[in-house]
Amino acid sequence: MTGGAAAEELLVVGGGVSGIACARAIADAGCPVVVRDRGHRLGGRMAVKTIDDRPVDVGASYFTVSVPAFQNVVDRWLDVELVRPWTDTFHVGDPGGLLGTRTGPMRYATPLGLRSLIEDLSLGLPLRNPDDVREVEPGPTVDSTAYAGVALAMPGPQALDLLGDSLEAERAASGGMWEPCIALIATYDKRVWPDLDGVFVNDSVVLTFVADDGRRRGDDAPVLVAHAHPVLSAAHLDNPDAAIAPMLGELEGVLGISVAPSSVIAKRWSLAKPVNPHVEHYFLGKSGVGLCGDGWHGPSRIESAYLSGRALGRAMARRGPAAA
Ligand SMILES: Cc1cc2nc3c(=O)[nH]c(=O)nc-3n(C[C@H](O)[C@H](O)[C@H](O)COP(=O)(O)OP(=O)(O)OC[C@H]3O[C@@H](n4cnc5c(N)ncnc54)[C@H](O)[C@@H]3O)c2cc1C
Repeated sequence: MTGGAAAEELLVVGGGVSGIACARAIADAGCPVVVRDRGHRLGGRMAVKTIDDRPVDVGASYFTVSVPAFQNVVDRWLDVELVRPWTDTFHVGDPGGLLGTRTGPMRYATPLGLRSLIEDLSLGLPLRNPDDVREVEPGPTVDSTAYAGVALAMPGPQALDLLGDSLEAERAASGGMWEPCIALIATYDKRVWPDLDGVFVNDSVVLTFVADDGRRRGDDAPVLVAHAHPVLSAAHLDNPDAAIAPMLGELEGVLGISVAPSSVIAKRWSLAKPVNPHVEHYFLGKSGVGLCGDGWHGPSRIESAYLSGRALGRAMARRGPAAA
């Protein structure tokens, strides 16, 4: 085990929105912190793929705001044009076609992709990635290095994989079912569907939501991102490409698209969404190991994950080094 100076430092494992919000809260409280993430890029499920030289959100689609604490952050992003108000109105459809529209909260989107927000939030934080954390043991120690405290900012099943058997309370708090999602990114030569921003698809076991990525991004590029129903996603997790044909078939039914896309990609999210997120904002045990993310502070969404991470970070900073 490595001790000494490192034992004064707090570690956040996970560079998604909850982890970066957690680390930011710790740093703002004046405590030393480092973030480790296994990805080459930060962002987690706020992932972006570059297709034909433009960013496409292939994980989370947009975000909403319901509390002032998150609105303040979003207002700053709006000021620097990292965020744009996208729409408050989506269409509703079923496998037979479009049925109407439904108005709800403002959905915010990003010209550069949602990951750009994580890159902004993480500015100035000490980051180590790609860095695949393997085990968390009492101490707390992570891969044999001692830390003053450790936040696991990730879906519960991923945290469970890291937690040693003796961290029983942490393991119990990491439990719960998660749904998968396959995202289909389809590009076209031109826009061949009705004028809309997005569609909630009802009465389907194939699709749940379709976003018009050009409208979301604001450049009107002919790109759609469709999310598969958890049942279809679970059936094709081992081979996501097998979900492409049924998803394109349903796009034809919902949006009347009769031409083939010019390119198509299927992206798998094994742990897309918790089935029953905890109502508590986070978990922090006597061991100094904390849990946060969208499995906490339900319902699962970007805003909840941000608030969960921030709350855990503040609690860890207040607690300081774990009791020996
Ligand atoms: C398809 C899809 C659509 C969605 N749509 C929306 C939406 O429209 N609106 C909305 O608000 N939310 C949406 N969400 C949910 C939203 O993406 C999440 O709530 C949010 O991004 C969760 O952030 P997080 O930090 O908790 O977890 P994550 O983003 O999953 O971050 C966890 C991080 O931990 C890292 N990690 C895991 N294990 C290790 C390890 N062993 N070592 C090191 N690092 C590790 C991962 O690399 C990852 O970066 C969607 C999610 C998906 C998948």
